[in-house]
Amino acid sequence: MPVNKEAYLQLKKELDAKGVTLVAVSKTKPVADILELYHLGQRDFGENYVQELADKAPQLPHDIRWHFIGHLQRNKVKYIAPFVHLIHSVDAFSLLQEINKQAEKTNRILPVLLQMYIATEESKFGLSEDELKALLAGLADVPLHGVRIEGMMGMASFTDDVEKIKPEFRFLQNMFQRYAALKTSNIHFTQLSMGMSSDYQLAIEYGSTLVRIGSLLFGNRTTVEK
Ligand SMILES: *Cc1c(COP(=O)(O)O)cnc(C)c1O
Repeated sequence: MPVNKEAYLQLKKELDAKGVTLVAVSKTKPVADILELYHLGQRDFGENYVQELADKAPQLPHDIRWHFIGHLQRNKVKYIAPFVHLIHSVDAFSLLQEINKQAEKTNRILPVLLQMYIATEESKFGLSEDELKALLAGLADVPLHGVRIEGMMGMASFTDDVEKIKPEFRFLQNMFQRYAALKTSNIHFTQLSMGMSSDYQLAIEYGSTLVRIGSLLFGNRTTVEK
């Protein structure tokens, strides 16, 4: 399926007008497709799998900002730490510690988002509010100088039912606003990563600053997702 350039240009215009960042989710898509959007001006791309990202990144221009949006295993952080722009999917203090360790090795301060559990339809990755509190308490005890928590990420239930999704987005927006007050050397909330191809407009109504869009730009994914 070819890249939908018209959809890209229209979406980009719409998001620019609202000050929302577009992350083009290129998982399972070839390097050639990414380059097509790159040549139209796109710089933020999102990937879900460490191996795939580590394979693709060296083949592509170095000014691409790579967003890691999939579930991240601790033992794989080292492969992306030297170059990743933002990790959206931190869901455990132990993972944050590993990101900190790898960031310090490469002399970086790595920006991350905390992935929150907001879906009610099915189980997805993410922190509950209690787990969030525990993570922040851990961070207060053991300050990590190699990471900066820049906000939150969430995935709504996989459904077309807008009335199911609204309260999930509202819940995350409320939590984001409450915890944004908490500023420390490690924590400075500016980014709310919420919304995909099917629900990004609704997500923006609930305060999303960054949407992660794949199929609308690259067509449906035929490969089975891991
Ligand atoms: C695949 C994926 C997206 C993009 O989904 P589309 O429906 O194709 O826009 C966004 N966020 C995450 C975390 C994903 O895994």
